[in-house]
Amino acid sequence: MYLIRLDDASEYMDVEKWGRLAVLLHRYDIKPIVGIIPANKDATLVSKYQRDFDFWKKVDVWHSKGWTIALHGYTHVYSSNSGGINPVNFRSEFAGLSLDEQREKIRCGMRVFQEHQIQSQIFFAPAHTFDMNTLEALKRESDIRIISDTIANDIYKLDDFYFIPQQSGHVRKLPLKLLTFCYHPNTMSEKDFNILEGFIINNREQIINFDDLLFKERKLGQYDKVIRKLYFSIRAVMSKLRG
Ligand SMILES: [Zn+2]
Repeated sequence: MYLIRLDDASEYMDVEKWGRLAVLLHRYDIKPIVGIIPANKDATLVSKYQRDFDFWKKVDVWHSKGWTIALHGYTHVYSSNSGGINPVNFRSEFAGLSLDEQREKIRCGMRVFQEHQIQSQIFFAPAHTFDMNTLEALKRESDIRIISDTIANDIYKLDDFYFIPQQSGHVRKLPLKLLTFCYHPNTMSEKDFNILEGFIINNREQIINFDDLLFKERKLGQYDKVIRKLYFSIRAVMSKLRG
């Protein structure tokens, strides 16, 4: 089964591309998980896009369409070189920071959501990087107990958290029970839109929504561990090749 996740929605985004993607997903009745940056201060986004004063109204529309809203960090500014417990990248807004610093970020992010009457059950960190303090901060400052991230075959539970694995940045077939495709609409090209739509047309039956997920008390198994090891080995080789 496949899930679609959209990253980096905020007051500073490519409104046209987000609109185009919303139309595309609506055409096939697909409801993605969308990660919202509560207080975007990421210079690469803030300096690139005009502030969208209608942003929070758009979030209401997404919510009414059944999209699942996730807390995507607080400011989206990287403050460490840590990879944390999901070292997909070695930069993070969260991993490596003290529990107090992380609690502050989660608290402030949740406050922004509350100001806009947004309910959220899911968190995913900028650059996919977080650590055990992030989970503790979420526990103390929010009701969020679901993370969209990490490499695995299917949803699993660790500590008090359910993890919905997130394994690919574009549509593809892989021998995994639940595969989350993570898109960044701000940087999608014409080709990306076309490939995504082609995949949807051919695989619509296998694309599910957050509300279809079953959260069972499954622990990580041997197959999950093999996949994870393979993923990070391939990633290490690829980054060496890129120099
Ligand atoms: Zn992001």
